[in-house]
Amino acid sequence: GLDLTQFEVGDLIGEGAFGQVYVASHKRSKRVKVALKCMVKSQQDRYLDVDGHSTPVLAEVAMMLRLMKAPRCPNIIRLHNWLEVEDNFVLILEYAESCQTLLQYIKDTADIEENQARQLMRQLIRAIMFCTERGVFHGDIHTANILVTLPRLELKLIDFGCAQPITQKPFNKSDYRGAGHGMPPEALRCRVFHANPAYVWTIGIMLYEIMHGRLAFNNRQSIMFGAIQIHPRLSTACVDLISQCLIRNPAKRLQLHQVEEHCWFNPTTPNPV
Ligand code: ADP
Ligand code: MG
Ligand code: MG
Repeated sequence: GLDLTQFEVGDLIGEGAFGQVYVASHKRSKRVKVALKCMVKSQQDRYLDVDGHSTPVLAEVAMMLRLMKAPRCPNIIRLHNWLEVEDNFVLILEYAESCQTLLQYIKDTADIEENQARQLMRQLIRAIMFCTERGVFHGDIHTANILVTLPRLELKLIDFGCAQPITQKPFNKSDYRGAGHGMPPEALRCRVFHANPAYVWTIGIMLYEIMHGRLAFNNRQSIMFGAIQIHPRLSTACVDLISQCLIRNPAKRLQLHQVEEHCWFNPTTPNPV
């Protein structure tokens, strides 16, 4: 069986609301580095069935397992395995080497260029589309839950701790467990929301933050009523994409399958002379 003594635990590499993340190496296969996400069990933990198994597992694990069946998506962090050790859950994750969070990358990089933003957004959209195909609503996409490798800007979506299965039924506002500033306006206004339009809202929020280095909306009031202040250096296509993803009425918002077709992703390259 698998247990923690098989790992040599190294530095603390991350701390979130619910757990610590350590880099570790598997002793027998020395070179293989993993990230150990350690969480103390709590009363609030949710459990879900995994297809073909009768014992429910931690929802975070169940949701990730849906995404691990081949073919996998390179933009979603891999779950190798998991353990329960006394009062703790330990997720054994792919370690994203030479990476930082998108939050840090944005802090360190003034005026990110649209070409870089496009590269990041293409990968984020690929991860999101893949999640919808496997029936997973991530529910907590923000810049600390996105890793970016340097210098190649490969993107990995992490932290499925707030993820939920997508069904025919809409989600309730109370189902939303992610960071408050990521909540779509329809969840605040109508108290129900669907996964796809919520994902499109998130895409708009992420693109805005990458291009401006700050949140589009700071609080619920501004999510519902605030005007978006867009920087004049942005191209018209970029402004249009942000604006269409951040339309408050989900029925009028750009649809998920339309996002990738938006002209910002298909810049016409000038003919070489
Ligand atoms: P929480 O659910 O507590 O927010 P996360 O899964 O978001 O925990 O992890 C917390 C932090 O740990 C992340 O923001 C990131 O900095 C780091 N981290 C998490 N997973 C990995 C990984 N696989 N590789 C590298 N760093 C990671
Ligand atoms: Mg997190
Ligand atoms: Mg989490």
